[in-house]
Amino acid sequence: MTFHQSSCIKISDTKICPHCTAPTLIKNGFTANQKQQFYCKTCTKRCIDFYTSEGCRKEINANIITLIKEGMGIRSIARVLGISTSTLLKRIVFISKGVQSPPISSGQIYEVDEMRTFLRHKGKVIWIVYALDRINKNVISFAVGSRTKKTLNQVIKTVILSNPKRIYTDGLIHYKFLIHNTIHKVTRFGTNRIERKNLSLRTQLKRLNRRSICFSKSLLVLNAVLRIYFWL
Ligand SMILES: [Zn+2]
Repeated sequence: MTFHQSSCIKISDTKICPHCTAPTLIKNGFTANQKQQFYCKTCTKRCIDFYTSEGCRKEINANIITLIKEGMGIRSIARVLGISTSTLLKRIVFISKGVQSPPISSGQIYEVDEMRTFLRHKGKVIWIVYALDRINKNVISFAVGSRTKKTLNQVIKTVILSNPKRIYTDGLIHYKFLIHNTIHKVTRFGTNRIERKNLSLRTQLKRLNRRSICFSKSLLVLNAVLRIYFWL
């Protein structure tokens, strides 16, 4: 899937390709709306002179990222930006595919916790498990699923691979079987930082708002939004 980043830039009589900035555009028939379409001989992508659809604007992806992190839901972002919800959802998934998980340094102290939310309807409870670096407050790994060893292990595996100094968790029994007791700690106030992060998440992501009618309808989009929030 490619998105048009901007319309063609016209300098004197030579048109420049908005994708690769080479002056190698040639006319290539008309679009369904009877607009002249151009074809780039260098990058083989197509473009038109002026885009009227809001979804094609250059700054739209940056705006989507900002608004997601400011506690806005799908429908409110779509209304503010003037694009459809289906375009928005596609974009969110597209943006998240380009997000890399951060590099992890060894010998750090981590806190791991689970957070409760809903998927599709309020009857279906789902958990977000994530690991927070105690010093620099970065989320190094997360997983969404039921509150089982399988979901927890997706996060714990990544943390243990980084050779951590200590892992703080709450008293959930599953952790005992997943983390070796030399690095595992369950103490009072041990997970204070991640509990505080939970509150930030509940404020800054609409779908995690507390006691609300907001929740994700799809696991794909929930994962995409979390990737964007944590690592972009
Ligand atoms: Zn080009």
